[in-house]
Amino acid sequence: MLCHRLRVYKQNIEISSKNKTLSLLSRLYEISVLTLNSVELAKRISQIIQSELNFEFVGILSFDSNANKIEPLAFSVSERVRDTASKNNFNFDSHPIHSDLFVKKFLSNREIVNELQLSDIWDEVSEKFISDLVIEAHIKSCIALPLRVEKGTAGVLIVGLNRHYSDLIGHEKESIGSFINVIAVALDKAWLYEKLRVTNEQLEVSNDRLTELDRQKTEFVSFASHQLRSPLTSIKGYASLILEGDYGEITDDLKKAAQIIFDSSKTLATVVDDYLNVSRIELGQMKYEFAQIDLKALVQTVIDEQKPNVEKAGLKLNFNAESGSYAVNADKEKLKQVISNIIDNSVKYTPMGEITVGVKNVKNNVQVSVTDTGIGIPKDVIPKLFAKFSRAKDANKTNIRGTGLGLFIAKEIVTAHEGKIWVESDGEGKGSQFYIEIAQAKE
Ligand code: ADP
Repeated sequence: MLCHRLRVYKQNIEISSKNKTLSLLSRLYEISVLTLNSVELAKRISQIIQSELNFEFVGILSFDSNANKIEPLAFSVSERVRDTASKNNFNFDSHPIHSDLFVKKFLSNREIVNELQLSDIWDEVSEKFISDLVIEAHIKSCIALPLRVEKGTAGVLIVGLNRHYSDLIGHEKESIGSFINVIAVALDKAWLYEKLRVTNEQLEVSNDRLTELDRQKTEFVSFASHQLRSPLTSIKGYASLILEGDYGEITDDLKKAAQIIFDSSKTLATVVDDYLNVSRIELGQMKYEFAQIDLKALVQTVIDEQKPNVEKAGLKLNFNAESGSYAVNADKEKLKQVISNIIDNSVKYTPMGEITVGVKNVKNNVQVSVTDTGIGIPKDVIPKLFAKFSRAKDANKTNIRGTGLGLFIAKEIVTAHEGKIWVESDGEGKGSQFYIEIAQAKE
């Protein structure tokens, strides 16, 4: 009877102790989820294990595999251990650990080390402190448990007991074993998070630096383009005056040379203007002046201006527009630049045939289309065509000069008008159709 009661009593103790272990485990999980700072995490974990299990001290040591060094991360101690330490001027949080010994003896160990000597733990520790820990703080044994994670050993948990390790009952040993995994994973996660945070901070710094460099580059391009503009205008102007005979009759050879100077400076002026526009876009300095305009009339102006250019290239230019109202709210000069650029491109990329420009109303928009019988655009290139510096491979093959900026600028301008710009082509050699749509102005 007595024997039976004793067994039941023992079982009860074991069940309640297992409950305690489970509730402790769930608290450790909770802490590990909520705490991201590794030192804070180690502090909270060591505190809870030390106080709940009545250990004399619990220390969490971290292992730096690069330096092969063990360092104290957090220590929680009982009151009597604290008193003993303060009497001996000993600081658990900063006193160096006997790294060599730990690395050699305990880190390679997968299992618990249950005969750890107090004097083995710290470097240059006084004998008096060790003996005070034994006599006054009642430390009878120490254990060390490696904190193992996937990549190896992250650190060590050391525990000072007021009993011998062999006096711990079975499930007490088991629960220490189960805590160890939770602690290891929690610390590993915290370290990973800290590393990520540092990397993120470095990335942010690099990103700021790159943004600043990019801004400086854009400012430089803008400055340089401005500086180039006026001498270019003079070169173009004087070449034109020479060609027009303002300086008297010139020989055919001189005429040829003046024509080359004029054409080249014109091309260069277009490039400079493209760069200036891109810098304005990137610096957010593109200014628009909106007013109600007739889009058909604007297209007609561009056609009149471009006609000699188209004819010189041996191409036919058609213009289809039904009579009607084509009023839109737009920045006239900017939109003119877009339409000119698209017609100009059609001339550049159409070796023979014709260019047809159309204006019509589609739903509530005015649509301008430019169709050519030129080299066409491969399907896979179409989605990238409006990006900065984007040129189809063929564009280079044909030796046609260009910056790959015109359509990028066009898209920015049309987007600022809340309009749409797109291109369709059946592929290489099959011509292209460019479309722009701008909302009709409300009466
Ligand atoms: P680029 O200065 O090179 O002409 P754009 O931005 O104006 O720059 O045009 C980008 C690229 O789109 C061109 O290099 C060319 O490959 C292609 N492209 C533009 N218009 C046409 C067209 N009408 N036919 C065929 N390809 C074109």
